[in-house]
Amino acid sequence: MNKADGIIIIAVLLLILALTIIFSIVVITNIYLRTRRKLQKLKKRETELELELTTYDRRIREIVESDNNRFNYLNSVFSCMGNGIVLFNSNGKPVFLNHVGRKFLKIEKSVFFKEDSKDLNPFYERVIRHSLKTYESRVPETFEHVNDGKTYKIQCVPVYDRYERQVCIGVMADISDLTRLKEIEEARKEFVSNVSHEFRTPMTLIAGYVETLSMWDELDPQNRQKCLEVISYETRRLERLVQELLTLSRLDKKGDNGENISLVNIKNVIEKIFSSLSNLADEKSISLESDIKISGNILISNEQFFYQMLFNLVENGIKYNKENGYVKVSVRNDTEKIYIKIKDNGLGIDKKEHKRIFERFYRIEKDRNSGDGGNGIGLSIVDMALKRMNGKISLESEIHKGTEFTIVIPLRDMKRED
Ligand code: ADP
Repeated sequence: MNKADGIIIIAVLLLILALTIIFSIVVITNIYLRTRRKLQKLKKRETELELELTTYDRRIREIVESDNNRFNYLNSVFSCMGNGIVLFNSNGKPVFLNHVGRKFLKIEKSVFFKEDSKDLNPFYERVIRHSLKTYESRVPETFEHVNDGKTYKIQCVPVYDRYERQVCIGVMADISDLTRLKEIEEARKEFVSNVSHEFRTPMTLIAGYVETLSMWDELDPQNRQKCLEVISYETRRLERLVQELLTLSRLDKKGDNGENISLVNIKNVIEKIFSSLSNLADEKSISLESDIKISGNILISNEQFFYQMLFNLVENGIKYNKENGYVKVSVRNDTEKIYIKIKDNGLGIDKKEHKRIFERFYRIEKDRNSGDGGNGIGLSIVDMALKRMNGKISLESEIHKGTEFTIVIPLRDMKRED
């Protein structure tokens, strides 16, 4: 091999080497570029994922927060409710209970952690029993239960899954206290029966005497006169009863009687009452006295109610008094209140009757006052009128010695009323 061949071989080798290097560079560059592109893509994906994750994170926080809020709202709704709410799961175990429910059923907070139900009180046990029945039948149940003198109404309704509507997940027992409603219903029934009773007696008498009068020619003038007197007396009784019932109904009406607020001259009111009752007082020679030590006119809500209240008390002082007795009204005031005393030296009221005399239609032994024809409404009007004036009444009384009613009414602030 000569020198020229050697050079050619070296040149070829160098060329191959150069080509290999160039090829390698091209391949490496290619790999590099592809890897870089992949890396860029991955980076982009990573950024996208990060963004997605942040969005998911925010969304989850929002959901948790809104769930928390919803739970708080629901909790406040349930705790503000007047009804007791208990949610039972399919095994009759309580999973939710509001404050009222716990109070009604007398359950401790630890109820959620107790496994057995051995020492349950009968009311709670009955609610569980009905709830399980409702769960099994899927039919709502309603029942009443009397516990410690209170009447409760319990409604058990099945609770279904929010998403799978056919899946029953438990029962909600809704417990309401019907005691007040029952009392009102009883009072209404008693009122209707009392009113009917009070109407029946005078109406029967009137009907009987009218019938007697229809035989006019057979009656002597004395009997005719007697019939007419009874009819007239009983008609006045009926008229009075209707008037008292109307006053009661007006007092019963809720709402502010602001339009009737007036400055009252108490001295004038008492004079008017004394003058209206002077005939009744004269019949028994009863003296009507007053001792009024108040400065100027007094602002009281509703003069009409004030008049009626005082009228009834003075009239009672006369009605339930003996010959030559007295009824005395004294009035004082300070900057905040007015104090009125109505004192008589009449029949007196037994201590055990003190509370009951303010009830509607309540009369102490009917024959004692039957001659005066009272309906037992007078003092209930006094009581209701005073409630409308934010006032209070108390009494001291001794049988055969007399009675003293004391009334305290807060004075209304004239500037505030303006
Ligand atoms: P009535 O309209 O029948 O008088 P009230 O409601 O005014 O009914 O009074 C209820 C009962 O209280 C009366 O039946 C009466 O026996 C008794 N009573 C009220 N005021 C007096 C009083 N000043 N002295 C004695 N008994 C009274």
